[in-house]
Amino acid sequence: MKMREGSLSTWMLHWMCLQLKTMRLGKTKLDVSRVGCGGIPIQRPSENTAIGVVKHAFNLGINFFDTSVGYGTSESRIGKALEGHREEVILATKGGWRSREMVKGSLEMSLRQLKTDYIDIWQFHNVSSLEGYNSLFEPDGPMETALMAKSDGTILHLGISSHSLEVASEAVVSDQFETIQFPFNFLCQDVAQHLLPLVKQHDVGFIGMKPFAGGMIPKASLAMKYVLGYDDVLPDPGVESKEQIEEIIALVEGPSDLSPDEEAEMESLRTDLGTKFCRQCGYCQPCPNGVNISLIMIAPIMWKLWPRENLTSGWYTSAIKSGDLCVQCGECEDKCPYQLPIREMIKENLLFHSRALSS
Ligand code: SF4
Ligand code: SF4
Repeated sequence: MKMREGSLSTWMLHWMCLQLKTMRLGKTKLDVSRVGCGGIPIQRPSENTAIGVVKHAFNLGINFFDTSVGYGTSESRIGKALEGHREEVILATKGGWRSREMVKGSLEMSLRQLKTDYIDIWQFHNVSSLEGYNSLFEPDGPMETALMAKSDGTILHLGISSHSLEVASEAVVSDQFETIQFPFNFLCQDVAQHLLPLVKQHDVGFIGMKPFAGGMIPKASLAMKYVLGYDDVLPDPGVESKEQIEEIIALVEGPSDLSPDEEAEMESLRTDLGTKFCRQCGYCQPCPNGVNISLIMIAPIMWKLWPRENLTSGWYTSAIKSGDLCVQCGECEDKCPYQLPIREMIKENLLFHSRALSS
Protein backbone atom coordinates (compact mmCIF):
# COMPACT_ATOMS: atom_id res chain seq x y z
CA MET A 1 0.00 0.00 0.00
CA LYS A 2 1.21 3.45 -0.86
CA MET A 3 1.71 5.56 2.24
CA ARG A 4 0.70 9.18 2.24
CA GLU A 5 2.17 12.30 3.69
CA GLY A 6 0.71 13.41 7.02
CA SER A 7 1.68 14.04 10.57
CA LEU A 8 2.03 10.40 11.60
CA SER A 9 4.99 8.21 10.85
CA THR A 10 4.81 5.65 8.07
CA TRP A 11 4.94 2.67 10.39
CA MET A 12 2.20 4.11 12.55
CA LEU A 13 -0.06 4.66 9.54
CA HIS A 14 0.61 1.13 8.36
CA TRP A 15 -0.14 -0.28 11.79
CA MET A 16 -3.42 1.61 11.89
CA CYS A 17 -4.42 0.39 8.41
CA LEU A 18 -4.01 -3.19 9.57
CA GLN A 19 -5.71 -2.70 12.91
CA LEU A 20 -8.67 -0.36 12.40
CA LYS A 21 -11.58 -1.82 14.31
CA THR A 22 -14.90 -2.63 12.68
CA MET A 23 -18.46 -3.01 13.94
CA ARG A 24 -21.78 -4.46 12.80
CA LEU A 25 -24.21 -1.78 11.67
CA GLY A 26 -27.45 -3.11 13.10
CA LYS A 27 -29.75 -5.18 10.91
CA THR A 28 -27.89 -4.14 7.75
CA LYS A 29 -25.25 -6.59 9.05
CA LEU A 30 -22.68 -4.47 7.25
CA ASP A 31 -19.18 -4.69 8.71
CA VAL A 32 -18.21 -1.02 8.90
CA SER A 33 -15.06 0.64 10.21
CA ARG A 34 -15.45 1.79 13.84
CA VAL A 35 -15.60 5.35 12.57
CA GLY A 36 -17.02 6.75 9.36
CA CYS A 37 -16.15 9.76 7.25
CA GLY A 38 -18.81 12.47 7.10
CA GLY A 39 -19.04 14.33 3.81
CA ILE A 40 -20.12 17.90 4.66
CA PRO A 41 -16.71 19.59 5.27
CA ILE A 42 -15.00 18.24 2.13
CA GLN A 43 -16.93 20.85 0.18
CA ARG A 44 -14.66 23.52 1.69
CA PRO A 45 -11.12 22.75 0.47
CA SER A 46 -10.07 22.64 -3.18
CA GLU A 47 -11.20 19.58 -5.12
CA ASN A 48 -7.71 18.08 -5.17
CA THR A 49 -7.31 18.50 -1.42
CA ALA A 50 -10.76 17.05 -0.76
CA ILE A 51 -10.07 14.02 -2.94
CA GLY A 52 -6.75 13.53 -1.12
CA VAL A 53 -8.54 13.64 2.23
CA VAL A 54 -11.06 10.97 1.23
CA LYS A 55 -8.32 8.75 -0.21
CA HIS A 56 -6.32 9.18 2.98
CA ALA A 57 -9.30 8.07 5.06
CA PHE A 58 -9.72 5.03 2.83
CA ASN A 59 -6.02 4.18 2.98
CA LEU A 60 -6.16 4.31 6.78
CA GLY A 61 -8.92 1.73 6.88
CA ILE A 62 -12.13 3.76 6.90
CA ASN A 63 -14.67 1.99 4.70
CA PHE A 64 -17.83 3.97 5.54
CA PHE A 65 -18.44 7.24 3.71
CA ASP A 66 -21.57 9.27 4.28
CA THR A 67 -22.74 12.14 2.13
CA SER A 68 -25.87 13.66 0.60
CA VAL A 69 -27.09 14.88 -2.72
CA GLY A 70 -27.65 18.13 -0.82
CA TYR A 71 -24.00 18.60 0.16
CA GLY A 72 -22.85 20.49 -2.94
CA THR A 73 -19.68 18.95 -4.34
CA SER A 74 -19.37 16.28 -1.66
CA GLU A 75 -20.77 13.33 -3.61
CA SER A 76 -18.76 13.99 -6.74
CA ARG A 77 -15.54 14.38 -4.76
CA ILE A 78 -16.14 11.14 -2.87
CA GLY A 79 -17.02 9.45 -6.18
CA LYS A 80 -13.75 10.58 -7.74
CA ALA A 81 -11.66 9.70 -4.71
CA LEU A 82 -13.01 6.17 -4.36
CA GLU A 83 -13.21 5.26 -8.04
CA GLY A 84 -11.84 1.75 -8.51
CA HIS A 85 -12.61 0.73 -4.91
CA ARG A 86 -16.36 0.36 -5.09
CA GLU A 87 -16.52 -3.15 -3.64
CA GLU A 88 -14.27 -2.19 -0.74
CA VAL A 89 -16.37 0.70 0.57
CA ILE A 90 -19.83 1.30 1.96
CA LEU A 91 -21.42 4.38 0.44
CA ALA A 92 -24.22 6.00 2.39
CA THR A 93 -26.00 8.98 0.95
CA LYS A 94 -29.21 10.93 1.47
CA GLY A 95 -31.75 12.51 -0.78
CA GLY A 96 -34.92 14.56 -1.06
CA TRP A 97 -38.18 12.85 -0.15
CA ARG A 98 -40.99 15.36 -0.63
CA SER A 99 -42.34 13.43 -3.64
CA ARG A 100 -41.64 10.25 -5.56
CA GLU A 101 -40.06 12.36 -8.31
CA MET A 102 -37.70 13.88 -5.76
CA VAL A 103 -36.65 10.45 -4.52
CA LYS A 104 -36.03 9.27 -8.08
CA GLY A 105 -34.19 12.45 -9.09
CA SER A 106 -31.99 12.46 -5.96
CA LEU A 107 -31.11 8.83 -6.37
CA GLU A 108 -30.20 9.21 -10.04
CA MET A 109 -27.99 12.18 -9.25
CA SER A 110 -26.28 10.34 -6.39
CA LEU A 111 -25.51 7.35 -8.61
CA ARG A 112 -24.03 9.65 -11.24
CA GLN A 113 -21.99 11.73 -8.81
CA LEU A 114 -20.74 8.79 -6.79
CA LYS A 115 -19.86 6.94 -10.03
CA THR A 116 -21.71 3.79 -9.05
CA ASP A 117 -24.77 1.76 -9.97
CA TYR A 118 -25.85 1.02 -6.40
CA ILE A 119 -26.00 2.80 -3.04
CA ASP A 120 -25.29 0.73 0.06
CA ILE A 121 -27.45 2.88 2.36
CA TRP A 122 -29.86 5.43 0.93
CA GLN A 123 -31.46 7.71 3.53
CA PHE A 124 -34.46 10.02 3.51
CA HIS A 125 -32.64 13.24 4.36
CA ASN A 126 -33.57 15.17 7.51
CA VAL A 127 -37.14 14.14 8.13
CA SER A 128 -37.72 16.28 11.20
CA SER A 129 -41.48 16.73 11.46
CA LEU A 130 -44.11 14.07 12.06
CA GLU A 131 -46.16 15.47 9.19
CA GLY A 132 -43.21 15.01 6.82
CA TYR A 133 -42.53 11.55 8.23
CA ASN A 134 -46.13 10.43 7.70
CA SER A 135 -46.07 11.73 4.12
CA LEU A 136 -43.35 9.19 3.29
CA PHE A 137 -45.95 6.45 3.47
CA GLU A 138 -48.57 7.96 1.17
CA PRO A 139 -49.74 5.61 -1.59
CA ASP A 140 -47.41 5.70 -4.57
CA GLY A 141 -45.24 8.05 -2.51
CA PRO A 142 -41.60 8.36 -1.42
CA MET A 143 -41.39 5.10 0.54
CA GLU A 144 -42.85 3.02 -2.27
CA THR A 145 -40.41 4.61 -4.71
CA ALA A 146 -37.45 3.88 -2.44
CA LEU A 147 -38.62 0.30 -1.92
CA MET A 148 -38.83 -0.19 -5.68
CA ALA A 149 -35.22 0.99 -5.96
CA LYS A 150 -34.38 -1.46 -3.21
CA SER A 151 -36.11 -4.33 -4.97
CA ASP A 152 -34.20 -3.70 -8.21
CA GLY A 153 -30.89 -3.54 -6.32
CA THR A 154 -30.18 0.19 -6.78
CA ILE A 155 -30.44 0.63 -3.00
CA LEU A 156 -29.17 -2.14 -0.74
CA HIS A 157 -30.37 -0.74 2.59
CA LEU A 158 -32.87 1.96 3.44
CA GLY A 159 -32.32 4.51 6.19
CA ILE A 160 -33.52 7.86 7.44
CA SER A 161 -31.85 10.90 9.00
CA SER A 162 -33.53 13.27 11.40
CA HIS A 163 -32.93 15.95 14.03
CA SER A 164 -36.19 15.24 15.84
CA LEU A 165 -36.23 12.69 18.66
CA GLU A 166 -39.94 12.17 18.13
CA VAL A 167 -39.55 11.38 14.43
CA ALA A 168 -36.45 9.28 14.96
CA SER A 169 -38.19 7.20 17.63
CA GLU A 170 -41.20 6.64 15.34
CA ALA A 171 -38.90 5.63 12.51
CA VAL A 172 -36.96 3.17 14.65
CA VAL A 173 -40.00 1.39 16.10
CA SER A 174 -41.70 1.23 12.69
CA ASP A 175 -39.11 -1.35 11.54
CA GLN A 176 -39.25 0.22 8.08
CA PHE A 177 -35.68 1.51 8.21
CA GLU A 178 -32.43 -0.35 8.61
CA THR A 179 -30.47 2.69 9.78
CA ILE A 180 -31.16 5.92 11.59
CA GLN A 181 -28.80 8.88 11.41
CA PHE A 182 -29.11 11.30 14.31
CA PRO A 183 -26.87 13.82 16.13
CA PHE A 184 -24.97 12.04 18.89
CA ASN A 185 -22.61 13.79 21.27
CA PHE A 186 -22.25 14.39 25.00
CA LEU A 187 -24.18 17.65 24.83
CA CYS A 188 -27.36 15.76 23.86
CA GLN A 189 -27.60 13.07 26.52
CA ASP A 190 -31.30 12.51 25.86
CA VAL A 191 -30.34 10.60 22.72
CA ALA A 192 -28.47 7.95 24.70
CA GLN A 193 -31.28 7.84 27.26
CA HIS A 194 -34.30 7.72 24.97
CA LEU A 195 -33.34 6.76 21.43
CA LEU A 196 -30.53 4.25 21.86
CA PRO A 197 -32.59 1.71 23.86
CA LEU A 198 -35.13 1.64 21.00
CA VAL A 199 -32.36 1.35 18.44
CA LYS A 200 -30.94 -1.66 20.28
CA GLN A 201 -34.34 -3.25 20.72
CA HIS A 202 -35.12 -2.97 16.99
CA ASP A 203 -31.55 -3.69 15.87
CA VAL A 204 -31.41 -0.55 13.76
CA GLY A 205 -27.98 0.64 12.64
CA PHE A 206 -27.22 3.93 14.41
CA ILE A 207 -25.10 6.48 12.54
CA GLY A 208 -24.09 9.19 14.98
CA MET A 209 -23.67 12.49 13.20
CA LYS A 210 -22.14 15.62 14.72
CA PRO A 211 -19.97 13.97 17.41
CA PHE A 212 -18.32 17.41 17.83
CA ALA A 213 -21.73 19.11 18.03
CA GLY A 214 -20.99 21.19 14.97
CA GLY A 215 -17.75 22.52 16.44
CA MET A 216 -19.18 23.31 19.88
CA ILE A 217 -17.00 20.62 21.47
CA PRO A 218 -13.47 21.85 20.95
CA LYS A 219 -11.62 18.80 22.21
CA ALA A 220 -11.60 15.81 19.84
CA SER A 221 -10.58 13.37 22.57
CA LEU A 222 -13.57 14.24 24.77
CA ALA A 223 -16.02 14.10 21.86
CA MET A 224 -14.75 10.82 20.44
CA LYS A 225 -14.31 9.03 23.77
CA TYR A 226 -17.94 9.76 24.59
CA VAL A 227 -19.33 8.39 21.32
CA LEU A 228 -16.96 5.43 21.22
CA GLY A 229 -18.21 4.44 24.65
CA TYR A 230 -21.39 3.25 22.89
CA ASP A 231 -20.68 0.02 21.00
CA ASP A 232 -23.77 0.32 18.82
CA VAL A 233 -23.08 3.83 17.57
CA LEU A 234 -21.12 4.44 14.39
CA PRO A 235 -19.63 7.93 14.77
CA ASP A 236 -19.58 9.83 11.52
CA PRO A 237 -17.48 12.97 12.05
CA GLY A 238 -17.09 15.39 9.19
CA VAL A 239 -13.47 15.84 8.19
CA GLU A 240 -11.64 18.17 5.86
CA SER A 241 -7.95 17.45 6.44
CA LYS A 242 -5.66 14.46 6.65
CA GLU A 243 -4.53 15.51 10.11
CA GLN A 244 -8.12 15.41 11.39
CA ILE A 245 -8.55 11.87 10.10
CA GLU A 246 -5.32 10.75 11.69
CA GLU A 247 -6.29 12.29 15.02
CA ILE A 248 -9.69 10.61 14.93
CA ILE A 249 -8.26 7.22 14.00
CA ALA A 250 -5.69 7.46 16.78
CA LEU A 251 -8.57 8.09 19.21
CA VAL A 252 -10.52 5.12 17.84
CA GLU A 253 -7.51 2.89 18.37
CA GLY A 254 -6.54 4.38 21.74
CA PRO A 255 -8.04 3.91 25.22
CA SER A 256 -11.64 5.11 25.38
CA ASP A 257 -12.12 5.32 29.15
CA LEU A 258 -12.90 8.82 30.36
CA SER A 259 -10.81 10.00 33.29
CA PRO A 260 -12.50 11.83 36.20
CA ASP A 261 -10.95 15.08 34.90
CA GLU A 262 -12.42 14.49 31.45
CA GLU A 263 -15.84 13.71 32.95
CA ALA A 264 -15.65 16.99 34.86
CA GLU A 265 -14.64 18.86 31.70
CA MET A 266 -17.64 17.42 29.85
CA GLU A 267 -19.96 18.42 32.65
CA SER A 268 -18.58 21.94 32.70
CA LEU A 269 -19.12 22.30 28.94
CA ARG A 270 -22.69 21.01 29.29
CA THR A 271 -23.35 23.55 32.03
CA ASP A 272 -21.80 26.37 30.02
CA LEU A 273 -23.90 25.66 26.96
CA GLY A 274 -27.16 24.82 28.70
CA THR A 275 -30.16 23.67 26.69
CA LYS A 276 -30.21 26.76 24.51
CA PHE A 277 -27.41 25.62 22.29
CA CYS A 278 -27.28 25.73 18.55
CA ARG A 279 -26.24 22.44 16.92
CA GLN A 280 -25.03 24.27 13.81
CA CYS A 281 -27.23 22.17 11.53
CA GLY A 282 -28.00 25.20 9.37
CA TYR A 283 -31.63 24.30 8.69
CA CYS A 284 -32.76 27.77 9.76
CA GLN A 285 -30.92 29.30 6.85
CA PRO A 286 -31.04 31.13 4.56
CA CYS A 287 -32.59 34.07 6.35
CA PRO A 288 -34.69 36.11 3.89
CA ASN A 289 -32.97 39.23 5.23
CA GLY A 290 -29.43 37.97 5.01
CA VAL A 291 -28.75 37.36 8.70
CA ASN A 292 -25.90 34.89 9.27
CA ILE A 293 -27.93 33.09 11.91
CA SER A 294 -25.74 30.11 12.73
CA LEU A 295 -22.62 32.20 13.32
CA ILE A 296 -24.40 34.68 15.56
CA MET A 297 -25.92 31.77 17.46
CA ILE A 298 -22.48 30.66 18.62
CA ALA A 299 -20.97 34.08 19.34
CA PRO A 300 -20.16 33.28 23.01
CA ILE A 301 -18.41 30.07 21.97
CA MET A 302 -16.45 31.92 19.32
CA TRP A 303 -15.21 34.31 21.99
CA LYS A 304 -14.15 31.36 24.07
CA LEU A 305 -12.33 29.50 21.34
CA TRP A 306 -10.97 32.05 18.93
CA PRO A 307 -8.29 34.71 19.42
CA ARG A 308 -9.70 38.22 19.87
CA GLU A 309 -8.11 39.54 16.66
CA ASN A 310 -10.14 37.07 14.58
CA LEU A 311 -13.37 38.31 16.14
CA THR A 312 -12.87 42.00 15.71
CA SER A 313 -12.36 42.22 11.96
CA GLY A 314 -13.12 40.65 8.60
CA TRP A 315 -15.69 37.94 8.03
CA TYR A 316 -16.72 37.56 11.65
CA THR A 317 -17.52 41.25 11.99
CA SER A 318 -19.62 41.06 8.80
CA ALA A 319 -21.47 38.05 10.18
CA ILE A 320 -22.24 39.88 13.43
CA LYS A 321 -23.25 43.03 11.56
CA SER A 322 -25.77 41.00 9.55
CA GLY A 323 -27.69 40.61 12.82
CA ASP A 324 -28.86 44.24 12.45
CA LEU A 325 -30.93 43.08 9.46
CA CYS A 326 -33.15 40.86 11.61
CA VAL A 327 -36.77 42.00 11.47
CA GLN A 328 -37.90 39.41 14.04
CA CYS A 329 -40.16 37.65 11.53
CA GLY A 330 -39.63 34.24 13.14
CA GLU A 331 -39.29 32.33 9.87
CA CYS A 332 -36.02 30.80 11.09
CA GLU A 333 -37.65 29.47 14.26
CA ASP A 334 -40.18 27.51 12.21
CA LYS A 335 -37.29 25.77 10.47
CA CYS A 336 -35.19 25.00 13.56
CA PRO A 337 -35.61 21.31 14.46
CA TYR A 338 -34.61 22.11 18.07
CA GLN A 339 -37.23 24.82 18.54
CA LEU A 340 -34.62 27.30 19.67
CA PRO A 341 -35.79 30.82 20.46
CA ILE A 342 -33.54 32.16 17.70
CA ARG A 343 -34.80 35.75 17.78
CA GLU A 344 -34.16 36.06 21.50
CA MET A 345 -30.78 34.33 21.21
CA ILE A 346 -29.69 36.61 18.36
CA LYS A 347 -30.48 39.65 20.53
CA GLU A 348 -28.62 38.18 23.51
CA ASN A 349 -25.60 37.21 21.44
CA LEU A 350 -25.33 40.59 19.72
CA LEU A 351 -25.36 42.19 23.14
CA PHE A 352 -22.77 39.69 24.36
CA HIS A 353 -20.57 40.52 21.36
CA SER A 354 -20.70 44.27 21.88
CA ARG A 355 -19.92 43.87 25.60
CA ALA A 356 -17.02 41.57 24.78
CA LEU A 357 -15.70 44.13 22.32
CA SER A 358 -15.68 46.89 24.89
CA SER A 359 -14.19 44.82 27.69
S1 SF4 B 1 -36.28 36.29 12.66
FE1 SF4 B 1 -34.52 37.46 11.95
S2 SF4 B 1 -32.94 35.93 11.59
FE2 SF4 B 1 -34.89 34.83 11.70
S3 SF4 B 1 -35.56 34.68 9.56
FE3 SF4 B 1 -36.51 36.51 10.43
S4 SF4 B 1 -35.10 38.15 9.90
FE4 SF4 B 1 -33.98 36.23 9.64
S1 SF4 C 1 -30.60 27.79 15.16
FE1 SF4 C 1 -31.54 25.77 15.01
S2 SF4 C 1 -31.70 25.39 12.82
FE2 SF4 C 1 -30.30 27.09 13.06
S3 SF4 C 1 -28.30 26.15 13.03
FE3 SF4 C 1 -28.93 26.33 15.17
S4 SF4 C 1 -29.90 24.40 15.72
FE4 SF4 C 1 -29.77 24.49 13.47
